[in-house]
Amino acid sequence: MSCIDTNRVKLNTARFQFDNLSVSQDIGMYEELAECSNLALFLKPLGEDLDQYLRFDHSDATQNLGNWSDALNQTLPDQGIGIEKVLEEMGRELIPNGSQIPNPGCSAFITTGATTIGALATLAGSIASPQRFGITAFNFLEELSLQWLVELLDMPIDMKGIYSSGGSVANLLAIGAARQSAFESIGVDTAAEGIPKPGCIYATEASHHTIHRAAAVLGLGRNSVVTIAADEMGRMCPMALRDQLSLDSKTETTPIAIVANAGVTSTGAIDPLREIGEIAKEYSIWFHVDGAYGLPGILDPEIAPLFDGLVLADSVIVDPHKWLGAPVGISATFVRDRNILNRAFKQGASDYLEGSFDDHNIEHSMDSQGIPYSDFGVELSAPPRGVVVWALIREIGKEGLRRRVCRHNAMAQLLAERAYAHDSLEVVQAPTLSICCFRYITDEFSDLNELNRKIHRKVVQRGKSIPSTAMVNGIFTIRPCFIGARASWQQVDELLEEVIEVGDQLVASQ
Ligand SMILES: *Cc1c(COP(=O)(O)O)cnc(C)c1O
Repeated sequence: MSCIDTNRVKLNTARFQFDNLSVSQDIGMYEELAECSNLALFLKPLGEDLDQYLRFDHSDATQNLGNWSDALNQTLPDQGIGIEKVLEEMGRELIPNGSQIPNPGCSAFITTGATTIGALATLAGSIASPQRFGITAFNFLEELSLQWLVELLDMPIDMKGIYSSGGSVANLLAIGAARQSAFESIGVDTAAEGIPKPGCIYATEASHHTIHRAAAVLGLGRNSVVTIAADEMGRMCPMALRDQLSLDSKTETTPIAIVANAGVTSTGAIDPLREIGEIAKEYSIWFHVDGAYGLPGILDPEIAPLFDGLVLADSVIVDPHKWLGAPVGISATFVRDRNILNRAFKQGASDYLEGSFDDHNIEHSMDSQGIPYSDFGVELSAPPRGVVVWALIREIGKEGLRRRVCRHNAMAQLLAERAYAHDSLEVVQAPTLSICCFRYITDEFSDLNELNRKIHRKVVQRGKSIPSTAMVNGIFTIRPCFIGARASWQQVDELLEEVIEVGDQLVASQ
């Protein structure tokens, strides 16, 4: 096969006259001019443009939307312009008009800019290991880093993991494992036969809606998610769960999973994991803990006790692309026995892979897949993600990550303290982790939800502080979530000043 390819490339290159050696009009370019990969050369200007971006002294992308969208909105090019010009265009039109998410003042949603080492490790993987399989150092790090996460985040020590693109897929895999397990216990292999009868998933209103989507994708249906009552903090009430289970035990539905939050997305609240886990064991129902955002909170010794009961989990997810500072595209699902994932998601042999690996006679990195991650999830081609997690942990260690998590939690606490002490501010929900939901209050406005909505938009448009919002028990709140590696103490005071200033102005101008 390689013989035919080489011949074709030679033919192609022969047809081209290169007047500009950096113009890569054809695959032959890379064949003939190996130096054109010249990453070291091109990374420097790209790095400078990105460093410049991260200083955030440029305007927001909306300020000159017409300019960059006109510049970029070109018809399909017949001829290429070459690497240098593409890079130039990226530096001029693209990078300066990117997202505000990496801005240190951005505390919106639960997302953040990648750390430098995270971005560099992603690049290294994309070049040196385009896939996660094979007997390579990357495949090795995939497993090692999953084990490190188990240890770092105090998960049940026998757990084994699999990376995927985000919490959405990570939850899908966990609920898929739960579905497989639940129906196997009545003798049905769902992966082969489909669902024999309805199943249900127990979760709170505060559960992430990717749980509902997972239920839909897995053929259980969104309506299979039964809402269990929660307290005013949004934490599941174990009594309500017990009542529902005893009611349902008299019906035909098959319980699939109980889903607990280790860090509710809007508020950071943590469900009583031990009580819920014990009920799950009593009823022999799969216990899933969604720690996409909050699980790294366990590194903070003050908060760690709230995770008591994690040891009872059958599956756990965590998003390294949230609190750990990985570039977006990295989540992990952990289960006790990956065979269940294999039974639920195994791809099965296809003709073109058949016989291409020989696990018994390994003399070359391509003789084996290594650990067959593609049979534990829903992706075949996938980037190596372990290298990124490995690099993040290797860079600052468990202690560095602990300090970062503690700092973020302390920032939310500090914000709450300042808000408690200020007449025009109200803490609507005291922080559990690194989120604090608060609002501006005044007697001069009857509709405080509307006022805070306006304050929030104005604050964001001013561009210094970029929090998002959350409805907490019917109250519209401003909701900073501190998780960015670059977020610092100064952002707490800046946000409060912005909210007070804008709130005062709106009150004065009404
Ligand atoms: C963010 C989040 C998700 C979804 O994760 P993505 O990586 O955005 O797909 C799921 N569950 C919880 C609790 C989350 O905070």
